[in-house]
Amino acid sequence: LAGKTFKPEPSVIDVQGVKIGGKELVMMAGPCAVESREQIMEAAFAVKKSGAQFLRGGAFKPRTSPYAFQGLEEEGLKLLKEAKDATGLLIISEVTSEKAVETADKYVDMFQIGARNVQNFQLLREVGRSQKPVLYKRGPSTTIDEWLNAAEYIMSEGNHNVILCERGIRTFETATRNTLDISAVPVVKTSSHLPIIVDPSHAAGKSQYILPLSKAAIAAGADGLIIEVHPNPRCALSDAAQQLKPDDFNNLCKVISEIAEII
Ligand code: PEP
Ligand code: MN
Repeated sequence: LAGKTFKPEPSVIDVQGVKIGGKELVMMAGPCAVESREQIMEAAFAVKKSGAQFLRGGAFKPRTSPYAFQGLEEEGLKLLKEAKDATGLLIISEVTSEKAVETADKYVDMFQIGARNVQNFQLLREVGRSQKPVLYKRGPSTTIDEWLNAAEYIMSEGNHNVILCERGIRTFETATRNTLDISAVPVVKTSSHLPIIVDPSHAAGKSQYILPLSKAAIAAGADGLIIEVHPNPRCALSDAAQQLKPDDFNNLCKVISEIAEII
């Protein structure tokens, strides 16, 4: 169902009027995790001003260590909904379990399936039973073929509103957190009709590389970006090194829209 043999023309996914996979680029931005009302509101107003259409913010955080901040869960989702009501931004947030899908369904406009759950087939089936769009990230060690095959678990349940997201894979290189596989963009475009966006934040792991990787992603044909932005990255409870300050995000948006005009 994800392949071009099934559907040759590119899919455009309409999320309440915001089209993903069409001519316009989509920009999703916000903090790694929702931390407080003040933090998410400040982030929301900032990314809205820069032109983002979606506010991201994790409420269920799949952290590498069980002792690290795990997210505000439903409280975080309520804060995201408040930010939506205040700004008009659409909301995307990660779901990590079938229970989380049920809870998040009340608050979000798009589910995010994180890299760690790329082959959590039960969870994929669960979001597949919804009609809500799903941002589906590649796993750090899945091939593109495995990833597209696993997308079938979502689509075969009836939900064809899948947006792929390349977020870096594990390689021998240690200078960046993961290695952004820019090739995934043209490879996916060749074999699938699904839109693909790029997450340079989790690929790079370091804020100074976000702008050049974003430029590369758009030049390679990505349909948009998802970027971590925090009002005060140094104090972030997760992914502090990679989150952009609102001003840097604003600059990135300007540069990206210039590139978008010439490609
Ligand atoms: C995230 O978007 O905050 C996240 C945990 O990303 P990934 O699943 O790509 O690691
Ligand atoms: Mn993060």
